[in-house]
Amino acid sequence: MECSCGKTTNLLIEADFGDAVWCAVCKVNLDVDELPVSGDLKQQLEDWTRDFGKWIDWDSDLLKNDADKTEGVFNQKGEVLVAKLREALPSFTITYQPSNLCLLYGTAGR
Ligand SMILES: [Zn+2]
Repeated sequence: MECSCGKTTNLLIEADFGDAVWCAVCKVNLDVDELPVSGDLKQQLEDWTRDFGKWIDWDSDLLKNDADKTEGVFNQKGEVLVAKLREALPSFTITYQPSNLCLLYGTAGR
């Protein structure tokens, strides 16, 4: 993967409101399309990213009911995806950072 620090094989997977793939070294957001994995796996990654933050009510900026449960399911899916990525990219180092929105909103919002 091309990025600011050169050619990275050190990835960080952390869901955000854009792509969920980052260079673990220079923290640049990488294009999922450029990952050397199957289109199917890219699609799964994009579908997963799209669900990010669904447990927050953006109108009131508060956690929805069962937010921690929803986030837990989301984080589990992420873990499964990262396992698939590691399998598809054996020469890459892939770190997974689960979402902690509940933690952020839980302390900030109350
Ligand atoms: Zn980099």
